[in-house]
Order: sequence, then C-alpha cells, then structure tokens
Amino acid sequence: MSAVLQVEGLHKSFGGVQAVADVSFAVDAGELLALIGPNGAGKSTCFNMLNGQLAPDDGIVRFEGRDIVGLKPRQIWRLGVGRTFQITATFASLSVRENVQMALYSHAGRLRSLLGRFGRAFTAEADALLGQVGMLDQAERPCGVLAYGDLKRVELAMALANQPRLLLMDEPTAGMAPKERVALMELAARLARAQKVAVLFTEHDMDVVFSQADRIIVLDRGQLIAGGTPQEVRANPNVQAVYLGS
Ligand code: ADP
Ligand code: MG
Repeated sequence: MSAVLQVEGLHKSFGGVQAVADVSFAVDAGELLALIGPNGAGKSTCFNMLNGQLAPDDGIVRFEGRDIVGLKPRQIWRLGVGRTFQITATFASLSVRENVQMALYSHAGRLRSLLGRFGRAFTAEADALLGQVGMLDQAERPCGVLAYGDLKRVELAMALANQPRLLLMDEPTAGMAPKERVALMELAARLARAQKVAVLFTEHDMDVVFSQADRIIVLDRGQLIAGGTPQEVRANPNVQAVYLGS
C-alpha cells in the first residue's frame, strides 16, 4: 500500500537561512506521525509547503500519489487535506451545531454537481460528529462562549466534516492546560485511526507526542536527524543531545 502523504527532498531557504534541507518522509492511512524539533527547526515551514501556503525551492509532495506542489491551499484542501485547530475558522455568534453544519455545507459544495442539490440542513450529520467529539450536549451554545478545550473539539468535528484523508495539525494543543492536551490529542488520534485518516502533527508537549504518536521524526536546523517509534526516538543520542536534553 502506498503512503497517503509522501515527501521527497524538500528544500526551502529564506535569504541565507536554510529553513528546510532535504527532508523526506511518508505518512500512511490511519497513522499518526509527529514532527518535532526545537524552535526554528523548520517545522512550520514544512507544514506550509505541504498545505500550499509556501512554494518549496525543491522537492516533491505527493498526496495519494499526486504531486501537489504548485497547487493553491484551497485546491489542496479540496483534494482531501484538512487542517485543524484554527480558532478563526469558527463563527463566535453561531451555535456549535451551526458551525459544524457550515463545515458540512462547505464540504458538500465541492460535491454539489454530483449531488445535484444543496438544500439539506445536515442536522443529523452535524449531531453525529458532535457526538463523536463529546459536544452534543453543547450543540445549542454559541461557539463564542465555549471553554477553550471545548472549542478545540468543535474545530476537530469541523475538520472531520470535510472527510479529509490527511490531517495537518501544527501545534494543535497550544494554549491548553497540560491535562487537556493529552485528552484532546487522544480524541483526535482515536477518530483519525477509526476513519483511517493519516495525521501529521507538530507538538511541544512531549507527553502528548510520546503517548499519541505512532512514529516521530525530528528536525534540527532544517535537517531530519532521527525518525522511528517513540521508543527508538527517545533512545536516540542525537535527539537527546539537540532536543530532549535541552
Ligand atoms: P519551527 O516551526 O520549527 O519553529 P519555522 O519553520 O517557523 O520553525 O522556522 C525555520 C527557520 O526559518 C527559522 O530560522 C525562521 O526564522 C526562518 N523563517 C521561517 N519563516 C520565515 C520567513 N517567512 N522569512 C524568513 N525566515 C523565515
Ligand atoms: Mg512552528
């Protein structure tokens, strides 16, 4: 089986700074791959080259076998590459259910010509998603009044409404309390595995990384210096020297 996401020889420089140098990796369906490294290692630059916000200087990004370099962010999203946890993606005055319905509408929009109609309310679908993330009891509340962790769960439901086969999550638990972080990522992991979604995430909280990732790759100054299972990466002396020991 070929990987959902395949990255080969990715390069990006800003002026004289080599932000990403010859990075290659792959993510399979239902797999959670964590991309870690110190601040400035090149993690966000990598992400932005995968979602179309940044053009690589060199390299190939294949999603389901197709080279997506050069496509716009919206085109890549339409192919089935989702991003989670963008606070700005929710409407504060709309209810939790309405926000998920919007996401379902937006997904259906790309299938409109196939379905031949666009007038459904998606109430049942929205409630099914809210049930999956444990937010059905708050469906009527406006998103603007939610606790931060609850809002993150709504955003996860909205990302899943798009039925992505690849989810990109850049620091999904930023701003959350430590205990909430593991719980949120556990939920995301469980749903992603059940739906065979490939997940690539960056994360500063090592408890989250080591408890949730199937595999970990480590960036340092733009280069991949280690990769493997959590146990392998934890035991890698390079990683301990440049990252975990710091
Ligand atoms: P990380 O997400 O791992 O903290 P980044 O990908 O944000 O790292 O940054 C990698 C390197 O590239 C850093 O040295 C950073 O200063 C530099 N960099 C990132 N984006 C830009 C940009 N738009 N212009 C110039 N330099 C950048
Ligand atoms: Mg970053």
